[in-house]
Amino acid sequence: MASGAADGPDAAAAPLIGDLPLLPAFLALAGRRVALAGGSHAALWKAELLQAAGAHVDVVDPAPCDGLVDLARRRPSVRLLRRPFVEGDLDGAALVVADCADLEAARRLQDAARARGVPCNVIDKPAASDFQFGAVVERAPVVVAVSTAGASPILAQALRGRIEALLPARLRDWARAAQAFRAPLKALRPEPELRRRFWDRFNDRVFSGAAPRADEFDALLACARAGERRGVGSVALVGAGPGDPELLTLKALRLLQGADVILYDDLVAPQILDMARREARKIPVGKRGYRPSCKQDEIVARMIALAQAGERVVRLKGGDPMVFGRAAEEIAALDAAGVPVEVVPGVTAALGAAASLKISLTERARARRLQFVTAHGRDGRLPEDLDWRALADPGATSVVYMGARMLGALREKLLAHGADPAAPALIVERATCADERRAAGTLADLAELGARLAPSGPCLVMIGAVFGGGSAGEAASAGEGAPPREPGA
Ligand code: SAH
Repeated sequence: MASGAADGPDAAAAPLIGDLPLLPAFLALAGRRVALAGGSHAALWKAELLQAAGAHVDVVDPAPCDGLVDLARRRPSVRLLRRPFVEGDLDGAALVVADCADLEAARRLQDAARARGVPCNVIDKPAASDFQFGAVVERAPVVVAVSTAGASPILAQALRGRIEALLPARLRDWARAAQAFRAPLKALRPEPELRRRFWDRFNDRVFSGAAPRADEFDALLACARAGERRGVGSVALVGAGPGDPELLTLKALRLLQGADVILYDDLVAPQILDMARREARKIPVGKRGYRPSCKQDEIVARMIALAQAGERVVRLKGGDPMVFGRAAEEIAALDAAGVPVEVVPGVTAALGAAASLKISLTERARARRLQFVTAHGRDGRLPEDLDWRALADPGATSVVYMGARMLGALREKLLAHGADPAAPALIVERATCADERRAAGTLADLAELGARLAPSGPCLVMIGAVFGGGSAGEAASAGEGAPPREPGA
């Protein structure tokens, strides 16, 4: 029986949603009466929430808290009834919310409410409640509510915070725009395909971080009619920070969550890629230092091609994209190709290392200047044109990027330019990562420090008086003592 296929035995195999402890639903309360038994501080927040949803709230308590008195003064929809709660207060109520001293009183109230068909919530007493409030993210008309079915209100709050951080900027404006677009779009009687393209493109715009434009509707419609999935794509050069995923900026996280394609360096930690949109294509474009690399041009060409095909490309770089990240070349090439480009800063390795060392790089008594240099010249050797006098200056804090394999040469050059052999120096490997390691000593033993640490990850060389003495010395040597590894392993 061909027509029976859809509801035949096969249909039963379709996966069903898992068991829900509570049904998430959103109640329309505008103009309806809600009884609130109790005038405590906990009741105050419920009163605020209920009146925000348009309810008329009757707060019944002989001595309501100051906050409720204030709320009632500011909101005519909140009425104070200064007397004990009676069951008759439930009559005609859409809901009842109560703050009860004990479970027995809570159950009595629940029974009375059920007898009248009024759903009941007793604050902090899920066992006597017919419904529960979620932790709320408000971007009206968009509302997100989180429930853990009472398992952990603190977890719900933490989730709420994370969701807040992930939502696109201007979400409220976009949701209002969506409301405003529905009728005019419907009036055009669009084909289902055109409708879908319109709303797809709309969503792309929401997650682009932009604000809706005055001509948004027409622009979306034109795009949808032209059959474009989206307009020209874009590239964001995004700093991933030194390793600890918590150091990502909110903007970086948002772009990762909205990306179609992510081109990432080898310095980027896998945990950071895990935070990206699941459907995004993730392409490694690492070009480890010291390997002959002609890949930069390829990377740029690839970014341009992807963006021109309409993709939202995130070029994810370790640390900050503008610090030893070859961003200038990429920006120039993207500009020349007419691809919109945006840069999102990240925490550069030196600042990540300073944070984990808890050492101020500009401590007033010990440093007059802070300088970041690279030990990796165009030819892969120590750059000849570094300002060695400035680097030898005892009043400067110097952070050398890409210097792990240049330790001997670095020391010789610095000493030859008058640096103090006793100047405090340290090497920090994988700063801010869980497996960060350090070796601390003086400039004179820089090469030995390197041999002792035998790093296999990215390293900074840090030199300057701020790294010497007192708590600084202790902090600098923490994390030492891991078993030595073969150099270059
Ligand atoms: N744009 C990056 C630097 C890229 S150059 C930034 O702003 O941090 C690559 C060099 O950065 C490495 O050779 C190393 O010297 C340094 N580096 C990057 N991440 C590091 C980390 N977690 N710990 C120590 N050094 C790091």
